[in-house]
Amino acid sequence: MKDELLREYARLAVRRGVNLQKGQKLVIRAGVDSAFFVRLLVGEAYAVGARDVVVWWSDERIARERYLHADADVFDAAYPWQVLAFDQLSEEGAAFLSVLSSDPAAFVGVDPDRIRRFSVAYGKANEKFYARMMASRIPWSIVAIPCAPWAEKVFPGKTADEAKELLWDAIFRTVRIREGGDAVAEWAAHCDRLTEQAGKLNGCAFAALRYENALGTRLTVELPEGHLWAGGSETDARGTTFIANMPTEEIFTAPKRNGVNGVVYSSKPLVLNGNLVEGIRLTFSNGRITDVHADKGEEYLKAEIALDEGAHYLGEVALVPYHSPISESGILFYDTLFDENASCHFAFGEAYPTCIEGGADLSKEELLARGINAESNTHVDFMVGTADLSIIGITRDGKEIPVFRNGDFAI
Ligand code: ZN
Ligand code: ZN
Repeated sequence: MKDELLREYARLAVRRGVNLQKGQKLVIRAGVDSAFFVRLLVGEAYAVGARDVVVWWSDERIARERYLHADADVFDAAYPWQVLAFDQLSEEGAAFLSVLSSDPAAFVGVDPDRIRRFSVAYGKANEKFYARMMASRIPWSIVAIPCAPWAEKVFPGKTADEAKELLWDAIFRTVRIREGGDAVAEWAAHCDRLTEQAGKLNGCAFAALRYENALGTRLTVELPEGHLWAGGSETDARGTTFIANMPTEEIFTAPKRNGVNGVVYSSKPLVLNGNLVEGIRLTFSNGRITDVHADKGEEYLKAEIALDEGAHYLGEVALVPYHSPISESGILFYDTLFDENASCHFAFGEAYPTCIEGGADLSKEELLARGINAESNTHVDFMVGTADLSIIGITRDGKEIPVFRNGDFAI
């Protein structure tokens, strides 16, 4: 891949992703194999005028060794110094940028109970930090770069180097980076389009959405009063806009916690905690998941839903046209950051407080009282969009308006 494009990517992540401001601190969370890209990000951050850049390294292969061999009791706690670091930096208003580069099979063979227990302990210990992120108090963003095992899964039959090149090309297309282009400017126009689409849905103020397709999905999702559709950029506590996911093609809101009924089938594989989950079927009654099935990786899906009570409820409903750019590339990325932006999706687990009017200032109890799923230590997106997906919007006075017809927006 060309150095020039890579620098443009770093520029985009720092200046448009977290939208780092002069005098602000930046935390970069990344794997050690991404060091070459992290160095570019650090350079870009100081060029913007960063006060300090803190890099928090990790390594999936080491995490795997830990899951397999560490003492059983270490998975029931997070280290206080880690918690303190994220708490302190987020309280100061630092921006948090994550660089993903994940092997879709990183944790194959790991005991799902160890993953579940560590997610619970880590989530609980880092509650203050996550609450600031979920309510968009601090700017945060997630970008991804290829690693060999990921690229080889996406492009089987190629050499590792060929596959990585192909994945770089694909990623650059999804984040609107091209030779001679101006990605920062293109993102401004893209976010405007998403904001406009979200505005249309907000204008409808639907009471419910009814999903149907040939996979067998028959699901009614009620929406709480005062719900807000959003897409593209978000605004942090200081009034600065940031883009939480790059790429992003979705508009999303929060469903009514106990207003989901029926059955939904997944339309793409899901990589969950380093394991592949395929053929998901979830059944809901009054919001709560009453039956969990997956053709493959069911034990990992069940462990994630068993994480806490809130994981049994939906926290996000997102709309992405079947004929959106990432979907039309025909590439299955085996990474939710990309695949969720090629398909209508839901998430089980915690809702974004900003998806309801005035939500960023409400406590968890108040958010629950407003009807959204405010309390969970997880948030897992799964894809449900198909070429034949129909979504009917039902207004508060009972009118039915097509929102999606044959997989694409009808309004
Ligand atoms: Zn989403
Ligand atoms: Zn989500």
